[in-house]
Amino acid sequence: MKANIVILPGDGIGPEVTAAAVECLRAVAKNHGHDFQFAEHLLGGCAIDTEGTALPESTRAACLAADAVLLGAVGGPKWSDPKAKVRPEQGLLGLRATLGVFANLRPIKVHARAAALSPLKPERLAGVDILFVRELTGGVYFGEKTRTPEAASDLCRYSVIEIERVLRRAFEFAQARRRKLTSVDKANVMETSRLWRETAVRIAAEYPDVKLEHQLVDSMAMLLLTRPADYDVIVTENLFGDILTDEAAVLCGSLGLPPSASLGAGKVGLYEPIHGSAPDIVGQNKANPLGTIASAALLLRYSLNLEAEAQALEAAISATLDAGIFTPDLGGTYSTQQVTAAVLEQLQ
Ligand code: ATP
Ligand code: MG
Repeated sequence: MKANIVILPGDGIGPEVTAAAVECLRAVAKNHGHDFQFAEHLLGGCAIDTEGTALPESTRAACLAADAVLLGAVGGPKWSDPKAKVRPEQGLLGLRATLGVFANLRPIKVHARAAALSPLKPERLAGVDILFVRELTGGVYFGEKTRTPEAASDLCRYSVIEIERVLRRAFEFAQARRRKLTSVDKANVMETSRLWRETAVRIAAEYPDVKLEHQLVDSMAMLLLTRPADYDVIVTENLFGDILTDEAAVLCGSLGLPPSASLGAGKVGLYEPIHGSAPDIVGQNKANPLGTIASAALLLRYSLNLEAEAQALEAAISATLDAGIFTPDLGGTYSTQQVTAAVLEQLQ
């Protein structure tokens, strides 16, 4: 098949990890006879430097016209002045809103050898396979912000439609998995959470084969570390999902491993590792590329409908970890390029 893929390397280690993922996608295309075209565009700090805006119009147009978008990471100390008018994160939030990608999927699968690096006991981690579905285009990140010398506020707002559409996605994924859905909120305190919970209960009637349970976000934060194997699909709002998925990365052994896919009603999906731009290791050939390569596998699965190719790439990642070919974040001595070469060899 033919596919147009936009690459947004972004800032920090973004260019290093996206280069690795593009190499893997080229190898998949070659092995399976596909024609993937790649076009690089600016987003984040690098776009601010040259264009004066974090999301240039040319990037926005290219992403809307693409079959899928693969992103590295944006941001870094150079652009982190809190008084600055334009910030890298605005580019990312703007892109998510432009593409209407309201459901952010973050699979947390534990690979035994990598998870040995996790501070958690191995017996707790056995069989952990969680799919987080994080709401991505609403809530407090997108609400009205105000600031006076004495106070500041961020409005948290959710409409019924915003809650329903992400919950339906989560129920559908649960149906295709182990049919258990955990909805996370703070319904004892927050009005948006009460609406979220009521909506979840109402929508659940459409999915009688899925067992729905509710957790308060504070107890979920604890249960994620004490009983992670109990969970199948976890759905939650934007802010809670951001925090819980960074926490869940601990189960995998490194923030450099988990991938993400952001999907909406439109055809274009956005794929990125869950980690940030890691300014402390930029340019050292030390960044773990596997989270971005795993994001490329999700791109094959969800945007291009190439399930066999997605599985082949995931198997190559797994075999690389089986062989203990680890970057320093996993306690290894291999470089970004050596880990990428190992995945490419596995793909042969
Ligand atoms: P953001 O605000 O963009 O989410 P962050 O503040 O969460 O960023 P990261 O940039 O993700 O921070 O980095 C957190 C730590 O994890 C840093 O020490 C960084 O070096 C490390 N890290 C992140 N990604 C990787 C990776 N792919 N390989 C190795 N180390 C990584
Ligand atoms: Mg982060």
